[in-house]
Amino acid sequence: SKLPSRKDRDRGANDRGLIAVFHDVTDLRRLETIRTDFVANVSHELRTPVTAISTAAETLLAGALGEPEEAAEFVDVIDRHAKRLRQLVDDLLDLSKIESKNYRLVLVEQDVIPVVGHVARLLDEAAKRRRVELRIERAEGPLPARVDRRAMEQVLMNLLDNATKYAGEGAHVTVSAQARAGGGVEIRVIDDGPGISPQHLGRIFERFYRVDAGRSRDLGGTGLGLSIVKHLVELMNGTIDVESTLGKGSTFTVRLPPTGERASRDRG
Ligand code: ADP
Repeated sequence: SKLPSRKDRDRGANDRGLIAVFHDVTDLRRLETIRTDFVANVSHELRTPVTAISTAAETLLAGALGEPEEAAEFVDVIDRHAKRLRQLVDDLLDLSKIESKNYRLVLVEQDVIPVVGHVARLLDEAAKRRRVELRIERAEGPLPARVDRRAMEQVLMNLLDNATKYAGEGAHVTVSAQARAGGGVEIRVIDDGPGISPQHLGRIFERFYRVDAGRSRDLGGTGLGLSIVKHLVELMNGTIDVESTLGKGSTFTVRLPPTGERASRDRG
């Protein structure tokens, strides 16, 4: 076969170069928009609690300290908003850590059933307080998957916390852990709460996206939980998706690959 002439080779290289540059510019623009949106969102989220705290403190200093009942009210405002601020900063730090290039999880093959059980026990108290019935449905025997124990706990905590929080009084929440037909593990968090409408469903994994921002804030939400969850699941080579019907409830499904899969890909 004939070798390409030098001119042909150069032109080929230039074409490729030009395409690469175009890609870079659109990527950069896209990243820039994401970054500015993010900073705007963070500033907006920080402003509410900071304003509330400083207004309450000013009122106390201006004389409310002398009125025990009034004082207690303003101290309560400071306490609640300081907690919210703290949750927001914790979530932001988590997210920035997880999104940084050098972040690595420690994936260890282990049975996920004890992890599910542990998290369900941790959430049991909160579920009772919210008058939600929490059930576990697990397969017999071990369900091995390559996971980072802490990341897996954080994923399940977030999903179960959301389910018990948004489903509300009288709801049922089930966490189920089963083997997948083709190998691997499937963990589902099912609630029979209000559900999420189709127009919102595609966006709930985005940072700061909330169906009802007021309700989420009242319940202590930051809008970052599900984006952290998605990142962590993907770092464990898994996938997460959601199905939901308004008035019926929501199901979040985490799928983890068979334990052999990664190992053979690493070798290849
Ligand atoms: P938040 O801190 O607001 O809970 P998340 O990222 O965890 O943020 O969730 C994003 C939004 O998705 C929530 O504000 C809520 O509107 C919706 N959502 C999440 N889980 C459920 C659920 N189980 N049922 C109904 N809505 C949910």
